[in-house]
Amino acid sequence: MAKRLQGKVALITGGARGIGAAAARLFSQHGAKVLIADIRSELGNSVATEIQSESGQPVSFVECDVSSDLDMLNAVDAVVSMHGKLDIMYSNAGIAGKDRAPGILSIDPQVFRKVFDVNVYGSFLAAKHVARVMVPKCSGTILFTGSAVTASYGLAPHNYTASKHAVVGLTKNLCVELGQFGIRVNCISPYAVMTPMAAEFAGCDEEAYKKRVLPDHLKLMRAEEVAEVALNMVSDESKYICGLNLLVDGGVCLKSA
Ligand code: NAD
Repeated sequence: MAKRLQGKVALITGGARGIGAAAARLFSQHGAKVLIADIRSELGNSVATEIQSESGQPVSFVECDVSSDLDMLNAVDAVVSMHGKLDIMYSNAGIAGKDRAPGILSIDPQVFRKVFDVNVYGSFLAAKHVARVMVPKCSGTILFTGSAVTASYGLAPHNYTASKHAVVGLTKNLCVELGQFGIRVNCISPYAVMTPMAAEFAGCDEEAYKKRVLPDHLKLMRAEEVAEVALNMVSDESKYICGLNLLVDGGVCLKSA
């Protein structure tokens, strides 16, 4: 297998499970040294150890709440002190809340704010701290995580939808701002992926979830399939791809637009 991230160093937020864990495994198989940053310490540590023993590449874990300025600063500093540099920031951590979340008439403003704290403020902090390291080197790539809710409305509660639109805004603006330093900034926006988040969000089993969200001919995506897209976006083969919000949806959103 050609190793597409040989010699690269990657920080993946939300890498203890779901899409982030699949990306940590794939990036590591492709030769990257990986730091997983997540609030789930026990799981994150065991996933890091497991991936390292499979791939033989260094994989470590740092406890980090992406909505904490200090935690993000420490995570970036940790990876730089371990490996001397940071080439890839995959800002993947996110929360969705519940599918049946209260609507605008009854939602608790704190519930709205919590989703923004993690999804938007967490993405901003990831970029702010990694820019400190990447700008002086004039290289690096940042990959944010949106969602198909940026292309099709009413799929999820308004707080989640609004937060993912904000992430796309951040992507496009930072693409312009950091592009002058040779730093690429992009976003991937998956449709339904079968992960622990999806199970918690929908509160039903895989079959019922699939029936609800997908046309018959499509399968629910796996975290590993989204990780493949992330790999493509962060690898040097995509060096002219900048400012993109890439829908990973099998055409579902186009069909329903
Ligand atoms: P998941 O819940 O399975 O994994 C998310 C990870 O983020 C978890 O390990 C969790 O501990 C971590 N996390 C949550 N809050 C955090 C915080 N404050 N600081 C650090 N880590 C934190 O979810 P997933 O389905 O793998 O989702 C990953 C990303 O993909 C999210 O941004 C999500 O919005 C997005 N997404 C998922 C789907 C889907 O259908 N699963 C679809 C579109 C977009």
